[in-house]
Amino acid sequence: MEDQKRKMYCYYLGKPYPLYILIDSSIKKITIEKKEDTFICRCPHEGEIDITDALQAYYIKASRKLIEERLRFYQPNFKVKYKSFSIENSQTKWGSCNSNRHLTFHWKLMLFPLKAVDYVVVHELCHLMHMNHDRSFWRLVGKVFPEYKEAMAILGAEKTRDM
Ligand SMILES: [Zn+2]
Repeated sequence: MEDQKRKMYCYYLGKPYPLYILIDSSIKKITIEKKEDTFICRCPHEGEIDITDALQAYYIKASRKLIEERLRFYQPNFKVKYKSFSIENSQTKWGSCNSNRHLTFHWKLMLFPLKAVDYVVVHELCHLMHMNHDRSFWRLVGKVFPEYKEAMAILGAEKTRDM
């Protein structure tokens, strides 16, 4: 094992953390994990590497854990319970809610401050009560999550569009 030459940063909940690359010839696949204030990338060989897949796998795992926690935190504000949720990659939306009460969230939310994650969680939970973005929907969003406009600005989301 030895450390890397270039310095890279990975975002986690709105803050950059340095990524350290460790060479470990006993492993076959690149893995990435976050340990306190750093990201550790274990790599089987030296030279050019593509960490895209490993980084995405890390964010998907981390977002599943965090979003489950945030859903548990906000769910008591709603009479209707969500049934299940999944972490998505290919879609262009930050989140969604269907008529089966299944919610989806994009793993890239993990790059943004917690406020933005919470806003999307609350937005989708509000769809359990109101499927459209009508006045009653936004009233409920504002009641449960008063800082929603600030969070939307962070995500570059518009009120007129879906997430
Ligand atoms: Zn929506």
